[in-house]
Amino acid sequence: MKNFKNISSIVVNEELSWKDKIFLTFDIDWAHDDVLNDTIDLVEEANIAATWFVTHETPLLSRLRANSKFELGLHPNFNFLLEGDIRNGKNCHEVIDRMYAIVPEAVSARSHSMTQNSGILELFKSRGLTHEVNHFIPAQTHIELKPWLLWNNLVRVPYNWEDDVHCMYGLEKRLSSFIRFSGLKVFDFHPIHIFLNTENLDRYERTRPLHQKPDELIKHRYEGYGTRNRLLELLMMAKND
Ligand SMILES: [Zn+2]
Repeated sequence: MKNFKNISSIVVNEELSWKDKIFLTFDIDWAHDDVLNDTIDLVEEANIAATWFVTHETPLLSRLRANSKFELGLHPNFNFLLEGDIRNGKNCHEVIDRMYAIVPEAVSARSHSMTQNSGILELFKSRGLTHEVNHFIPAQTHIELKPWLLWNNLVRVPYNWEDDVHCMYGLEKRLSSFIRFSGLKVFDFHPIHIFLNTENLDRYERTRPLHQKPDELIKHRYEGYGTRNRLLELLMMAKND
């Protein structure tokens, strides 16, 4: 349990704050409350630190805030803006500020779809963020990760595992094979994939009309080894830690 830490606890020059530590992160991605509650139940049962990148207002933010081991960060969605659709804000400032209005205490962020550029990173800094987690370097590259400072003193925390990307690569490996690598270890899960136990993104795509209907969605949970099992594997490590 002592090896699980929150993103904002990373200090670049203090290796003990990140080396061989596990950072469990979640992109909430507008999950239905029942779907999000399901993930929170699993993580609270394990009693470990976790960083939650929030996408929307929900009463469950109170549940997350009530757990002192949890940290809430921003998960701004710039995708609409990139397509010329201003429903989420007419520029990057507005997209970020609307997120801040929901999670004013946030000090960390990962963008939806990992969208980033130097301007967005400057905005993160100017709005008071200290850590960002947008840079994905897959674990199977065997590149040993460490955090570093950006030009504006924002701490860049690269991450090396994401549930849906694991499926996209078609990797069969169990999560345990990724836990053995050394260096910084940052895992990214989505409540919807935990709920569905996604093994293949076809399952996610074909159930889209049911994503906000958890009573029906549960019938489509994969019964083999999938994303939920991978999270449980990681949580089991916490028990033995
Ligand atoms: Zn997302």
